[in-house]
Parts: sequence; structure tokens; C-alpha cells
Amino acid sequence: MARSPFGLDTKLVHAGEPEPRIEGAVGMPIFQSSTYEYAGATSYHDLKYIRLSNTPNHRVLHAKLAALENAEAALVTASGMAAVSTTLLTVLRAGDHLLAQNCLYGGTHDFVTRDFPALGLTVDFVDGDRPETWKAKLRPETKAIYVETMSNPLLEIADLEAAARFAREHGLVSIIDNTFASPVNFRPPEHGFDLSIHSCTKYMNGHDDIVAGAVIGRRALVEAANLKLGHLGGALDPHAAFLLHRGMKTLGVRVRQQNASALAIARFLEGHPSVAQVRYPGLESHPRHERARRLFEGFGGMLAFELRGDVAAADRVLERVELPISAPSLGGVESLITRPATTSHSGMAPEDRRRLGIADGLIRLSVGIESTADLIADLEQALG
Ligand code: PLP
Repeated sequence: MARSPFGLDTKLVHAGEPEPRIEGAVGMPIFQSSTYEYAGATSYHDLKYIRLSNTPNHRVLHAKLAALENAEAALVTASGMAAVSTTLLTVLRAGDHLLAQNCLYGGTHDFVTRDFPALGLTVDFVDGDRPETWKAKLRPETKAIYVETMSNPLLEIADLEAAARFAREHGLVSIIDNTFASPVNFRPPEHGFDLSIHSCTKYMNGHDDIVAGAVIGRRALVEAANLKLGHLGGALDPHAAFLLHRGMKTLGVRVRQQNASALAIARFLEGHPSVAQVRYPGLESHPRHERARRLFEGFGGMLAFELRGDVAAADRVLERVELPISAPSLGGVESLITRPATTSHSGMAPEDRRRLGIADGLIRLSVGIESTADLIADLEQALG
């Protein structure tokens, strides 16, 4: 499939597939070979080798991922963090400075705060919802701005359009972690972002059985990231590439089900007497609901809520639910439930959590593809 007047679901199934099909295979075969017979390559990076991310299993994913976000190019990586670190090390070099949203995914936050100093890199955090404050943090050596489509676990939505605009006005590379939205709900290159990052471990693969990542966006930057990935060694294994490819084909149907189910659950929770507050961009009560309506095609499968009771009450709900599995991570077919203060955000100082509005009793739910009525009934008995 060459050019794409096609819809996202068609591209998920057909974009990038080998033409002609390999031995007629409808499913993409796994090329479990680290090295390939010499075919006249004149440079190291033209040799076919798994670490150089250029085997048939990589190439099909690159074409499909780029098509999904209507971007020039894409690269798969061995994990979401490989995508994050490789991207940042591609656009920044010693002496450079990064502006980053102040409520980043914990692994990314750790990377820019703990690893940057030894690399000669600096970072300043900005409130993603207050673009008028960003210019004060700008320095001559600032090279990029980094945001996330929705924050974890509070589902805040930064002024994403302003971030892309700010980057253009000041000659920065704009980078967004689009993991929570997936290309079904938001496609950053269409909104002016240079690079979009995914932890494909989550919605893209959707089955909680691999870790993988992706960098999608402008060709020159993606090619530079590919060279950097070859040096850092974070290439995706062909078997994981095969599973990601297979998982992605159902991304559209999964995410639309998760969008619809999460909205119904959020409405149910908002009307429940034991629930003090629900965070979900699809609710009119969400402070940036209008922004979410304008930018997103769906509001996603992630929601967070606080009970009227104490932390023990939150733990009782986690113990009583029968369908959502108590586990970190997100975006798979199984619903997962956690209390971020004890899992994803346990490494953060309690006062920092409080400053960001992450209450100790906050519960985060990654809505899977189980029947919505069953999930609501389960939450109802657990809250009861
Ligand atoms: N970005 C976001 C928003 C995430 O939630 C995660 C993981 O939870 C990552 C990046 C890192 O992805 P991975 O675990 O695949 O390395």
C-alpha cells in the first residue's frame, strides 16, 4: 500500500506490508536472523543486521508507524525508555538545555534529572498549561521542548498546540510522548510536533506481553535517531517486532472500545456517593475538557479517581475488585488498577506528589476491553 487516502484502521492492517507478500504469507513472517548475506553495501549502516533496525520486521513496522501518524518516518526501539533516551541523546549534545513538562513519566523524569548532569545536559521544568511562563526559562543553549499528551496519573492536558508553536518560534525541536493517546486519539505530527514517542509496550501492542518503543516524525531526525540507536544498542528483537506488528493490527478496535468504556466508567464513578473526584478528559468536569474535545478523537482508556474515605478505603477497593488486575503499566486488553503513591510514583517524595496533586489515596485505572457493564458492576460491588 503506497500512498494513503485510507483510514487509520485500514492502515493498521495494510500499511507497510511487504509487496509482494513473502511466499504469499498473509501474516508477516519472523526474520529470526541477526545477520544477512552481504549484498554490496558500501557503508556500515547499510549492512542488514538486527542492531541497525533494518531487517524486514523492522522495516514493515517503520512504514506502518509513520503512516499511522501521517509522519515522514518512524523507528522502533527495544522499549519506550529506549525511544525516550535515544531521542533526547539525538537532539541534545553536551552543553545543551531541555525544557520539559513538570509531570513527566517517572522513567523519563529520572533520566533527565539523574543522567543528564553526567552527560553535560541540563533541564528546566515548565508548567505545561502556562505557556506564558516558558520564555523566562529559555536559554541560548535550549534545543528542545518535551511534553506528554496526557499526564500520568492525573490526565492533565498541557497546551500542546502552544508547545509545538513555541518550538517553531524559538528554533527548538518539539517532542511529545504520545503513549497515553495512541495514534487513534491523537497524531502529533498533524499538530506541528517534530517527534512523537511511544512506549509501544502499552496501547500499540496492547497485550501486556512485550516491551517496545517508537520514535515517529521528521525524516532527518528519525534517521539521526536510528544512527544513535545503533550506537546505544536498543534495537527491537525480531520476535518482539512480530508481536508488536500483530498487536497493532487491532489498535483501532481496541482503543475505541477502551475510549467508550472509560467514558462510561468515569460517568458511573462521578455519580457514585463514595467517590470524591474523577479525573478523565472526557468528563465535562475535567479542567481541560474543551481542549481535549478539540484535539483528540477519543479521550483514552486511562482514568483516575479519589474516594471520600482514607487511603485504607482505596486499598480495600483494590483488594475487592475482581476484574481489574492490581498491576502497574497500562494500555493492554486486561484492565489494570493501581494506587500510584505505592507504585508508579512511590519513588517521588510525598511532598512532591502532594504539590503535583497526586493524593495518596488516588486510584488509577487502565481500562481494558472487558464488557463495560461487567467492569462497572465489579467497581460497584468493590465500592459498596
Ligand atoms: N512513556 C510513558 C508515558 C510511559 O507510561 C512509559 C511506561 O510506563 C514509558 C514511556 C516507558 O516505556 P517502557 O516501559 O516501554 O520502557
